Amino acid sequence: MSKRLLGLLVPLVLTVGATAACDTASAGASGKLDVVAAFYPLQYVTEQVGGDRVKVSNLVKPGAEPHDLELSPKQVAEIADADLAVYLHGFQPAVDEAVADHAKDKSLDAATVQALHDGFVPLEEGELHEDEKGKDPHVWLDPTRLAGIADAVAKKLGEADADHADEFTANAKALRTKLDALDGEFKSGLANCKQKTIVVSHNAFGYLADRYGLTQLAITGLTPEDEPSAGRLAEVSRFAKQNKVSVVFFETLVSDKVAKTLADEVGAKAEVLDPIEGIEAGSKDDYVSVMRSNLTTLRGALGCS
Ligand SMILES: [Zn+2]
Repeated sequence: MSKRLLGLLVPLVLTVGATAACDTASAGASGKLDVVAAFYPLQYVTEQVGGDRVKVSNLVKPGAEPHDLELSPKQVAEIADADLAVYLHGFQPAVDEAVADHAKDKSLDAATVQALHDGFVPLEEGELHEDEKGKDPHVWLDPTRLAGIADAVAKKLGEADADHADEFTANAKALRTKLDALDGEFKSGLANCKQKTIVVSHNAFGYLADRYGLTQLAITGLTPEDEPSAGRLAEVSRFAKQNKVSVVFFETLVSDKVAKTLADEVGAKAEVLDPIEGIEAGSKDDYVSVMRSNLTTLRGALGCS
């Protein structure tokens, strides 16, 4: 080998060596993968699938509403530095932007795993804004769809940490078994109900309704901050009276004022139906336990036998 060629090869070898060392280091001093999850259900699946091999941080503080998340420069850096960012395109624009700018090659978009439905439009379309007819991001409220996302997380984690790929696959499989059981409980629990329409505060339950043969009528659109118009409120109120709706649902992370006012007006109770966009601080609940209490609430409200 000529000296010249050797001269070319040496830096190359050094570079490869440096990259490999860097990869090992990226698994963290603890040997765990650093994963950033954009909001709670994605944190839940990543923790279930990654087990002890990952350290998952959620970009949304416990008890905060995730739709309108704004990122601090520190959080953007966290996304850039992570081994993997798990997000859902179209749900949190600030996260979409940070991932596109800093983590394109090490990210998983849950929206590409589950083809999103074209906007689930509530019963009467007239009052909806044009921009609400986009894609509904609330896929996690169908447990079988969340299982699909878990499989994709397992694949991505396996690429980042090949030594434990089998473990991630097995964890995703175990989670699917759990989510299939939950799906079965919902199917049988909501099979025989007097009411089929749920009146909810924001348009989050399209996938749940779709899976279990319900219809949702939402006071506001796909994001909870939307102010309902007077016309929209009148429409929902009229529907609720005509159909003797006994419960209007509200959420834990957003204001319950509109839902409670409406419930009063139509002589209904107001109860919590949780879209699981976050878990309240200090709560011992997780995705499955909140879904179970949602099922109990729905069965009572809809008169299911
Ligand atoms: Zn939502």
